[in-house]
Amino acid sequence: MPAAMNKNGMVTEIHTRIRKEPFTANYELVGRELGRGKFAVVKKCVEKATGKQFAAKFLRKRRKGADCRVDILNEIAVLESAKESPYVVGLHEVYETNSEIVLVLECAAGGEIFNQCVADNDEAFTEKDVVRLAKQILTGVAFLHQNNVVHLDLKPQNILLTSVRPLGDIRIVDFGLSRRMDSVTEVREILGTPEYVAPEILNYEPISTATDMWSIGVLIYVMLTGESPFLGDDKQETFLNISQVNVDYSQETFEEVSSLAVDFIKSLLVKNPRKRATAEECLNHPWLNSHPHSHPHLHTRAASSLDEPETSQSESEPESPASS
Ligand code: ADP
Ligand code: MG
Repeated sequence: MPAAMNKNGMVTEIHTRIRKEPFTANYELVGRELGRGKFAVVKKCVEKATGKQFAAKFLRKRRKGADCRVDILNEIAVLESAKESPYVVGLHEVYETNSEIVLVLECAAGGEIFNQCVADNDEAFTEKDVVRLAKQILTGVAFLHQNNVVHLDLKPQNILLTSVRPLGDIRIVDFGLSRRMDSVTEVREILGTPEYVAPEILNYEPISTATDMWSIGVLIYVMLTGESPFLGDDKQETFLNISQVNVDYSQETFEEVSSLAVDFIKSLLVKNPRKRATAEECLNHPWLNSHPHSHPHLHTRAASSLDEPETSQSESEPESPASS
């Protein structure tokens, strides 16, 4: 484990060799952009030597006039520390020029789960899909938490899929806000995306692994219902909804969703971080061992004529003893 850590919980000592030759000497950019965030552009590329596809994340070292190289080193260090987890995106190589650092990442060809979260029924996740993907997300996050890493930016744009049809596996990406929580680290200054941030962040209270668990509660809510539980008309209203834990658990919103799923979300959207379920506790929740319907949820439109063939199987009975 690299030991160099500053007081914000950022690790800046890395093991990956930083290559100084041009990225384009070894890779060819192909196709369109895979995505972009505030300071990064991600493009698909092919490694010339092997013909293998990767995703190249181009990060500017200067942001708003400030040198952000240490933030990028932290992102690399976190990726290194999670390389044993199949659910965290793999880091292949790193390149550096005068102005930017390029992370060559495993390509998650299915894109963001965000697309299925906002999709119509024939594209949207079924509860059965969400159970399988939630287990993977929690397994990945449990790995991070066991290593004292908090992600701090878990949202549908940062959870990718290896493929869409057939629905593949998840890869957690974007460790730009991640921190190590060992030592007496207190992180008070970071803000993630308004809709997904936990109440303790809004109150400038200490951040912990529980902060990620809140975001996972929001994430699963969105995956199951297609609705963002705290989103208001403006930031102010969103923050008020979060601090009051103002959540709609009505029948209409959770039409076709099992009560075990609702119970699962309720264990995460708890204001007191110490009373929130941990990743390990979530993995033992009866919902993740249940076998819900595999037909799509019906919230985005009226009853569908596109019935899935599998629905005749009796998959609706939860088999966990805890649920009866
Ligand atoms: P930022 O820190 O700017 O948000 P991200 O790491 O989240 O950068 O990348 C931005 C977007 O690029 C992601 O939301 C996703 O759509 C896409 N992307 C990132 N990494 C990969 C990858 N390994 N494979 C495929 N697409 C990716
Ligand atoms: Mg991102």
